[in-house]
Amino acid sequence: MDFDDLEFLAWGASLAQQLQQHFSYPDFPPYPQIPASEPPLEQAYGQHPIQEELAQAGLTGPPLEAIEAEQHCENEDPEDPEDQDRPQDQESLEEDKPAEDEEPAENEAPGAFQHALKLVENPSHFWTRLQNFYKAKGILQSALPTTPNSLWNFGPHKKINPHKLFLAVLSFGGRNLVSTDKKNWRAIGRDLGLSESHSETFSWHIRRLYSDHLFDFERSFTSNFDMQNDATPDASGTRSSNTTTPNAPSNASPNPAAVQNASFNMNSTPVNMAGAPMQTIQADTPSNRRGKFSKPEARAANPVDPIMSSLISEAMPVPSIYIRCLRGLESPLEEEQAFATHHLVAISDERGDKLKLAEFPSLAEHLVEVVLEKVGLLLYGKPWEVNWDGEPYSGLADNQIDGAYGTKNLLVRIQKRDIIFRNDGLMTARDDTLLRIASEAALTLRNLCTLDGNAHYVSDMEVVWDMLVILMHLPRNTVFDELINYALETVEMVCSWWDYKELGAVTQTLEKFLGSRDKHHCLTALRALVMFSMELPEGKDLGRLPIDKVRWLYQILQVADIDYELGSSTLDFLYQFTLVADNVRLLTEISYPAHEGVDLSVDWLPTLIRLLQVDVTVRTEEVVDQEEQRLPPPTAIPVVPAEVLDRDIEIFQEPERCSRWLRSCFVEDKDCEVTQIALWQAYQACFLIGRPDAGSILPAAEFINTVSKTFATAHAQVVSRETPKFVIQGIRPLEQPRDAEGYPWFSCDWEFPSADPEKPAYCANAYKDPVKLRDHVLHEHLGLPRNPDTGRTEYPQAETPGYKCCWKNCTEHTVPHTNSSLIAGHVARHLPTPRDLSHPPPIEQRKIIKPRVARVYKFETTPVDEKGEPFGIAYKAALILRNILDNLPQEPIYHRDEPHSWSWYVFSTRRDQLVELGILNTSLRGILFDVVNGIETS
Ligand SMILES: [Zn+2]
Ligand SMILES: [Zn+2]
Repeated sequence: MDFDDLEFLAWGASLAQQLQQHFSYPDFPPYPQIPASEPPLEQAYGQHPIQEELAQAGLTGPPLEAIEAEQHCENEDPEDPEDQDRPQDQESLEEDKPAEDEEPAENEAPGAFQHALKLVENPSHFWTRLQNFYKAKGILQSALPTTPNSLWNFGPHKKINPHKLFLAVLSFGGRNLVSTDKKNWRAIGRDLGLSESHSETFSWHIRRLYSDHLFDFERSFTSNFDMQNDATPDASGTRSSNTTTPNAPSNASPNPAAVQNASFNMNSTPVNMAGAPMQTIQADTPSNRRGKFSKPEARAANPVDPIMSSLISEAMPVPSIYIRCLRGLESPLEEEQAFATHHLVAISDERGDKLKLAEFPSLAEHLVEVVLEKVGLLLYGKPWEVNWDGEPYSGLADNQIDGAYGTKNLLVRIQKRDIIFRNDGLMTARDDTLLRIASEAALTLRNLCTLDGNAHYVSDMEVVWDMLVILMHLPRNTVFDELINYALETVEMVCSWWDYKELGAVTQTLEKFLGSRDKHHCLTALRALVMFSMELPEGKDLGRLPIDKVRWLYQILQVADIDYELGSSTLDFLYQFTLVADNVRLLTEISYPAHEGVDLSVDWLPTLIRLLQVDVTVRTEEVVDQEEQRLPPPTAIPVVPAEVLDRDIEIFQEPERCSRWLRSCFVEDKDCEVTQIALWQAYQACFLIGRPDAGSILPAAEFINTVSKTFATAHAQVVSRETPKFVIQGIRPLEQPRDAEGYPWFSCDWEFPSADPEKPAYCANAYKDPVKLRDHVLHEHLGLPRNPDTGRTEYPQAETPGYKCCWKNCTEHTVPHTNSSLIAGHVARHLPTPRDLSHPPPIEQRKIIKPRVARVYKFETTPVDEKGEPFGIAYKAALILRNILDNLPQEPIYHRDEPHSWSWYVFSTRRDQLVELGILNTSLRGILFDVVNGIETS
């Protein structure tokens, strides 16, 4: 048995009573079986429920045919099998199942919301209805556009599609259900396309937008439905198996016939009854009617609901530990209270997500009472007492708190009391007990508030706020740090629900902690202020900060890149702060004339600009203007000189001989290819043709195989062009053949006179040493003499022209000349450059004929999230810069008797720096250039 069941039973009992009174049926007949072939509901029972609903709500929607068509589909839909298989929503407190199981699945929206979903699924239906709704309410022009497909602004510079938002919330089961947990709004934010980090940041904005502009609209769909639905507990009860016939329609039918037929069996077991959807019960409670209970007159003077108390204590087998704790808190015996708080801390820590304050109506009040009593005893020797039934603001004793209406002049009351607590930190055993019980009670409350529903619940309790104020004003003594932490953390969780709370009271109390020696106090207070200001409907005006707090914020900013956590919270706060022109004016006022070291232009701006570079990642981008181009591979396969062939190759047997030959003629090159036929012919020419003594050569297949084995990059391929071409991919011929050591051999290409001009003849002597080739050409072919003494070549001037170049393919100096030195100089250009043969052989590379040309750009970019949105310290600093520029005072500032704009005065000297940062930082560029444009237009 758990507490949802309890609530359900209480509701069920009162409902059964109502039903019996209303219809006076002694017993409810079962729901009639509707065969599948029966006409749909609207025909069987007269007017369609939606028509009625629309008529009542004064709404006119799309043509009825369209709705009917939709309704047809809906009725013909088979019941969702998952619905029946799903485990019961409610779980026992004793079970340790994870809390997520309790979150409603998307397809489990209660009937009213499913209904509404169908009606507005089509965007045009949605917009028509929304417009009509606003008209019906007498609002001719809504604050936000209602023209179809318009987007709504929310938060800073964000837009959202209201139709999608409405659908997302409806499919979740409506705003109240979504609001039971902050995570739900984040999930909706993600569904709407926000990134993970942004959906977290802006979930409050989304909730606010929805509450202000769509919640009433949602209620226009569901309120009529609920009135009827209250009388038909089984209307959407596809899950209460044994009380519903299988063919029961999945939607409520609001006409009396259906009500009569809805079976409701009080004798069925609670487990079955618990299957009915709890969300359809609309009763005004603090958790679903925000604001209603915050008004003093609405707050019950007696916080304990007598029916619930009696149910818990007597009728129901509630786990005894809870009862024991509740009774313990009520007890005047300190041992009992200590027992209760001790266990409640453990329970709230482990089961905080299940312990709903709304289901223990007196728990929060008792916890507050215990905290106040113990703190009062500890500090003043006399407890703070809670007066639950006093008249508002009158007749309270000095040590009394007004539990129902909130205590007026609480701060004055706190100051008036005489502290007997010794501030030297020495505590008696009794003090220790008091402090421990108070801390445990405060911690329990804090743990419970981690659940949004509980935070919401206590946000309406004035007495909780009074307790928090008292705790936050505890004397500055380390023994109270823990209690203050719990109070601040509770404020952080609750404050976003305080729409009505007076600004001054909250901000002044929290601002006290800015600059506290306890970092946790500063952090929590900052976060609470940010949360609170984000939630303020009327703006972000946090009130006038004292100058020492401004200076503290500035100091924290200096180290924001070192103390990331505190820095980040400070920037969040400053972002909210600088959204309001009055606050920026405050910064200018304490800036000019500059004093106190917090000048906007001299101090704030350089600091914020420096923070723009926090966490940047350096990234380079390359633009290639010209790709590298290499010399094309040689077209001919070199001929191995006979000397190399004899010495390095012929001494081996096949296939090694073939492999050696390949290595002397080819080199690995993955970009090149050689045709198989050319390769095969060269191999044959080397070892077969004109050599009767050559012996056998490899067969073709084995030859190709050997090529692949010799070169790692080589593989046989068929290139299909017009005619298929068989090639070896991955090798290219060398310019010069190589010997076994890898040295190239240079052959003499001097052309001899030939009878057949088609078949020129060449010298073909080959040399490893380029110098020897040169000597050979100069002496053998040009016929230059040597000096007999020195052995050097001499270059005589001939009587008759006798010197000419016969190098292969050369077209210069083909006519004989008398100047031998001229011709020798020319011929040397055909010859390889001399090379030191003691060096290792060169690595054969194709010559680069066009080098690669590229420009490299360097960026320093702020990191972005998965949606490409920047985040972190630098992003926040950029937003603050923009806020400051946007909200500077409009009147001129006189600098050396000249009038200037404030933006000129503050920003002009930083303009170039911002431009430079914007160019480098692609992710902040948009914001930074906004700022630069703002400076220029001012
Ligand atoms: Zn020669
Ligand atoms: Zn030549």
